[in-house]
Amino acid sequence: MAKDTSFAAKTAKAASDRDTTNCPKCGEAYANVKLISSVRSETKNSWKFLQNFVLVCSCNQKEIYI
Ligand SMILES: [Zn+2]
Repeated sequence: MAKDTSFAAKTAKAASDRDTTNCPKCGEAYANVKLISSVRSETKNSWKFLQNFVLVCSCNQKEIYI
């Protein structure tokens, strides 16, 4: 039990050391999610892909994960 607790504490500390931000609304730590969207290029008649990193929490995950 004690071992589990210290492991959890270490994990929590490691997580807080990273550059994480908590949502002011739900208090949840944002998950950094890579979104890839395809955009059609009219001139070249081809698709190009755009990569975006978005911060996801309970507030907006329904909009992100369609
Ligand atoms: Zn939120």
